[in-house]
Amino acid sequence: LKNRKIAVLGSRSVGKSSLVIQFIENHFIESYYPTIESTFSKSINYKGVEYNCDIIDTAGQDEFSILNQKHAIGIHGYVLVYSVTSHKSFEIMRIIYDKIIEFTGQNAIPCVMVGAKMDLQQSKSRQVASQEGEEFAKSHHAAWIETSAKTNKNVAEVFQLVLGEIEKS
Ligand code: GDP
Ligand code: MG
Repeated sequence: LKNRKIAVLGSRSVGKSSLVIQFIENHFIESYYPTIESTFSKSINYKGVEYNCDIIDTAGQDEFSILNQKHAIGIHGYVLVYSVTSHKSFEIMRIIYDKIIEFTGQNAIPCVMVGAKMDLQQSKSRQVASQEGEEFAKSHHAAWIETSAKTNKNVAEVFQLVLGEIEKS
């Protein structure tokens, strides 16, 4: 089995744990202890090949926190999450991206940028346009998708995309 280590990073309360729990356990959690980092193992089939994936649900970052070394070393792919309801969380995702680039010394990293909580877009709470997220990702050679952990929209797709980005790299 091929092993892949995937780190889920992003600002606090953007929906990282909800996304991971929905993917692993197929249900939506209203709240999850926010300061605990957990690693989940799951076998994922990508294009007919089984990958043994360790998914690290981090406790969250902010613009001032120093990127933890263990989130830059030995990681094959990144899921960088922002909430479509928080432009601030999008800005923090961009800072995290830059920090990973700096830490790894790479020009680009296997990465999918995720606009979470897309079920809230009907209300007036959207602060990040799809186009803004998509263009930023494109300009950084990253994949991009919008998701809802609540409705289970595009959740499995996130992990297909990150495995695809890892294979491309
Ligand atoms: P984390 O700190 O990034 O791990 O964020 P959580 O997964 O703990 O979620 C923070 C809050 O946002 C919780 O109240 C979740 O129920 C809520 N949330 C997470 N994902 C979604 C989503 O897709 N849709 C909606 N409406 N709420 C969400
Ligand atoms: Mg969490």
